[in-house]
Amino acid sequence: MIHSLLNRLLKKSGIDITTPPTVEKWQDFLQRVNRTYIEADQERYLLERSLAISSEEMQETYERLRKSETRYALAAKGANDGLWDWDLVHEDIYYSQRWMDILGIVPDGKCVPTRNCWFNLIHPEERDAVVAELEAHLEGRIEHFENEHRILHRDGEYRWVLIRGQAVRDETGRAVRIAGSLTDITKRKRAEEKLAYDAIHDNLTGLPNRKNLMLRLERSIERKRYQPNYNFAVLFIDLDRFKTVNDTLGHYAGDELLQSITEKLCGVVRPNDMVARLGGDEFIVLIDNVKNIEQVTSIAERILGELQKPVHISGQDIYSSASIGIVLNSTEHNTPDEIVRDADLAMYRAKVKGKARYEIFDIQMHSGAISALQLEIDLRRAIKNKEFLLYYQPIVALGTENIAGFEVLIRWNHPTRGVVPPNDFIPLAEETGLILPIGSWVMRESCRQMSDWQKEYPSAENLLISINLSARQLEQPDLISQIVEILDETGLSPRCMKLEITESVVMNNAEQSVKTIDELRKMGIRVSIDDFGTGYSSLSYLHRFPIDTLKIDRSFVMRIGEGGESSEIVQTIINLASNLGMEVVAEGVETAEQLNFLRGINCGFGQGYYYSRPIDHLSATEMIEKLKKDEVHEPIGPVIELNLLEKTVH
Ligand code: C2E
Ligand code: CA
Ligand code: CA
Repeated sequence: MIHSLLNRLLKKSGIDITTPPTVEKWQDFLQRVNRTYIEADQERYLLERSLAISSEEMQETYERLRKSETRYALAAKGANDGLWDWDLVHEDIYYSQRWMDILGIVPDGKCVPTRNCWFNLIHPEERDAVVAELEAHLEGRIEHFENEHRILHRDGEYRWVLIRGQAVRDETGRAVRIAGSLTDITKRKRAEEKLAYDAIHDNLTGLPNRKNLMLRLERSIERKRYQPNYNFAVLFIDLDRFKTVNDTLGHYAGDELLQSITEKLCGVVRPNDMVARLGGDEFIVLIDNVKNIEQVTSIAERILGELQKPVHISGQDIYSSASIGIVLNSTEHNTPDEIVRDADLAMYRAKVKGKARYEIFDIQMHSGAISALQLEIDLRRAIKNKEFLLYYQPIVALGTENIAGFEVLIRWNHPTRGVVPPNDFIPLAEETGLILPIGSWVMRESCRQMSDWQKEYPSAENLLISINLSARQLEQPDLISQIVEILDETGLSPRCMKLEITESVVMNNAEQSVKTIDELRKMGIRVSIDDFGTGYSSLSYLHRFPIDTLKIDRSFVMRIGEGGESSEIVQTIINLASNLGMEVVAEGVETAEQLNFLRGINCGFGQGYYYSRPIDHLSATEMIEKLKKDEVHEPIGPVIELNLLEKTVH
């Protein structure tokens, strides 16, 4: 090697080894040799150094790798992940113990963990997606292989897993190996599924909630757009006296009632329809694929029928009813909100019209909503201008046909509409609170009238004036002081005043009502439960209320003699009242037949067109004028003694 090196150097220096060189050439040659040695030495040094470094580095890299591998294994273990390593060239897959544990695989030789064994376990709905994702990564189209899917556990149930993998490629970029982890995410998925479910379901009844309904309505509206023959309907269902159940029987009973109503509603609809709960006692039924309106109304009727059947809760038979507003999809409805709003309007109309019924939305209901506003404006003006009138309807003792008193009934003498009946404005007055000034006017005016009659006609001395008291009035904290003031001012004896409170009002806030009623009765004022039989109080609650009189609702009296159960109900109410020492007034007596029946079962009092319609104060004055002293029923004062009362309240 030295020889050839020398030869190369000599040649480069221009020395011809066949002829002796000149001194200069020789010197030049020696210098070159020297330089080459130095260069070679340097090269060797650098080479050696770099070799040393790379082995150091290699050592280090190896250490790092070992550490990170251990770290990875540890992390995988800590994270409870399974590991897999797949040699793509030899089709050989390694699975860690944890990997097999996740799927319940016992390495007993029965289930050889091959590629097929693995992929066959993946849920059929997700298998293709997993394979596609894997291939995309192996072909280099996506950087990481990562997928969440269900995979069959040996116990026959699917587990949710997260799979991650990273391919190792040869110098041509071909994937030769892929390794990664498998994580059991079943718990997380279940939690996610539950959250997703909860977000669109009501947790008491399990029904779809408002959000869910709105999404469904959106789809139905959309479908209507491209399929004009498709129709759907929305029923807005609101229970009529749910608050009463909650207040008297407690929230637990209220919840049970809602659940039983859910069952009833679900029993009425078809699988494609939707029953949703908006909240509180409001439900929505969406009827899909509506062919005609009869189909919808017959469902509404079936719902009303189902709700009428009693539900047994907390040892009670609870009767419920609902008001239903119906909307058919139309081109005017562009959003779910608009549909629900209109169904709500129709439902409200059903309530106003007497509850336990359905109303179909029509466009005039919008103007109805506007006219409610107009009505409120008119009502405020009516209060200012004193546009109200009072009518009086006699209440008669059925045994003697003597007059016991009058019920005062308000009318509104509207400047353009003429005489407006109370049902047309009292509900709105209650809603807006205008009933407070109206009610206190009624009380003052009717007490003054009765006091005037008594001053003028000795025969009127024992007549009672029955005044209707609304919920809002009963709730007023200063009700008692207002009444004291009115009695003072008009000089009417409290014994001649009777307050009529509807059953549902008494039940709605039973505890407070009982307190107020107690106070009224301590003053000598009589208290009557109005519209009895229509609320929830059912007979078993009656003893809790310190009441003088029950007024049997007109709807029962009306059906006397029809052969239904009305006569029996009336009979039962009268028996019970007499056991509790209460008087009974039958409302709406219109025929001699009804009267005879009522007399026959010892109903104390009656009121109705049979005797007289409500009459204005002039006609009432005429009636009183003609009365002889013995034609007036003599009341016997609040019948329940106070000490007895305290025992029965709780
Ligand atoms: P209500 O307290 O149940 O009054 C009895 C209603 O039945 C009255 O209707 C009366 O005219 C009617 N009526 C009486 N006898 C018969 C009959 O034989 N047949 C028929 N079909 N009806 C009969 P009105 O005067 O229209 O009053 C309706 C409701 O308005 C009252 O029902 C009461 O709830 C309310 N109301 C009337 N005046 C007042 C008031 O001053 N204050 C309050 N808060 N409500 C009132
Ligand atoms: Ca009444
Ligand atoms: Ca009544």
